[in-house]
Amino acid sequence: MRVAMVGTGYIGLVTGTCLAESGNEVVCIDIDHQKIERLRENILPIYEPGLAELVDRNQRSERLTFSTNLGEAIADRQILLIGVGTPQSETGAADLQAVWAVVDEIRAAANESKIVVIKSTVPVGTNAKVADRLDSGPIRHRTASNPEFLKEGCAVEDFMKPDRVVIGTRDPEVADLLQELHAPFLRSGHPLLVMSPESAEMTKYVANCCLATKISFINEMANLCERLGADINDVRRGIGHDNRIGFQFLHPGVGYGGSCFPKDVSAMIALSEEVGAASRIMAAVHQVNEAQKSVLMGKLQGLFDGDLAEKTVAVWGLAFKPRTDDVREAPSLVLIQQLLQAGAAVRVFDPEALQNVKQIFGERITYCDRAYGTTEGADALAVVTEWQEFRNPDFEVLRRLMNRPVIVDGRNLYEPQQMAELGFTYASIGRQTVHPDLRPPAPLTTTAEATGVELGV
Ligand code: NAD
Repeated sequence: MRVAMVGTGYIGLVTGTCLAESGNEVVCIDIDHQKIERLRENILPIYEPGLAELVDRNQRSERLTFSTNLGEAIADRQILLIGVGTPQSETGAADLQAVWAVVDEIRAAANESKIVVIKSTVPVGTNAKVADRLDSGPIRHRTASNPEFLKEGCAVEDFMKPDRVVIGTRDPEVADLLQELHAPFLRSGHPLLVMSPESAEMTKYVANCCLATKISFINEMANLCERLGADINDVRRGIGHDNRIGFQFLHPGVGYGGSCFPKDVSAMIALSEEVGAASRIMAAVHQVNEAQKSVLMGKLQGLFDGDLAEKTVAVWGLAFKPRTDDVREAPSLVLIQQLLQAGAAVRVFDPEALQNVKQIFGERITYCDRAYGTTEGADALAVVTEWQEFRNPDFEVLRRLMNRPVIVDGRNLYEPQQMAELGFTYASIGRQTVHPDLRPPAPLTTTAEATGVELGV
């Protein structure tokens, strides 16, 4: 099939490339000239495992091309996918400016009937509005909604093997065509679900709101565990074996970030208020998350008697999650800002996201190209993102490098008792803080068992 992908950001680039890989002829369109120029030279604007190779291969075979000229690029394309950004506006609602700009351009430029598919996350009812707006032009186009559920960090794999594909349309022909487009990705038997555009749009928001709710829920429970003398990891094991609850997405941490959960939760709050049924749960999820981003700072202040002036704090992990360079709404940014305000010197390391953070903090912090080097002379180490390479460091080396053996861990990567034995003061999320000379009593279960279960889910 001949496909145009409008918007060559995270979603557009992954979608366009994977569709080309499955044999379609795809043109990826963007208004950002520099981005398109660089993509033509195989320089990607984002880091995503496996993507660079696919872009290269499909450009060489000429199944994948890039353009800044929408009018020209869509001329002989049957399916137009829209994947432009829908950021949060000042009111919290989704800002659809880019979507409308593209729809208007399509209406003005298309000289034959197209199938216009909205992949961007848009408020319920947008598809109907897009159809109306297109109808005011000279040619009748058909529309569908096809929300995207891929995860940053394994975007290519998720796109190639989706758990499900959701298509929102009332037109059986459009449904068939989109079924055909997605068939190569559904060979393992996962379903393609056809529903109304409204239900498809709502599905995307409900999915993200559900995941965000799980995170805020476990974070609130973790904070309570700390106050009540319980250990959230034990509690997780205690609840997770119940199939109705499970282990997935119930990891305590420093709050969710990224380009989707925060804005989609806000959009759902705005949407619910608009229809006079304000979502109390989503408002609480947002509030809990905002507070959670400050949890590591609170722990550092507690450990340093509120005085972090002229202390050096090393930060491991800047991306909002591992395997991406995305720092949009990342909890690390809140921590760095708070540390700077408190007068601390900040040294940071991330395997992929250093450049993106440099654009925000410039020369105000020190960027290190090695994890261990970051901790040299540090009074504390804050672990913010659970990159694989942080899971099993050489603690002897760390202790030698650091000025003081203090670790605050926002991802519960290490075992408290072991950290105390290794001579660290160690604070984590939802577990009791340990000190080298003040160890808590040994837990009833073995460390090996706890770790095994943790890694096994
Ligand atoms: P992004 O900001 O990375 O990319 C958006 C792209 O659209 C940019 O390259 C921008 O230059 C381009 N653009 C803006 N206006 C344009 C126009 N008029 N014509 C052509 N191009 C234009 O955004 P993203 O992360 O790819 O997200 C896109 C949509 O997909 C959003 O609605 C988002 O909620 C949704 N989504 C994102 C993810 C994710 O993990 N990033 C997952 C699922 C859904």
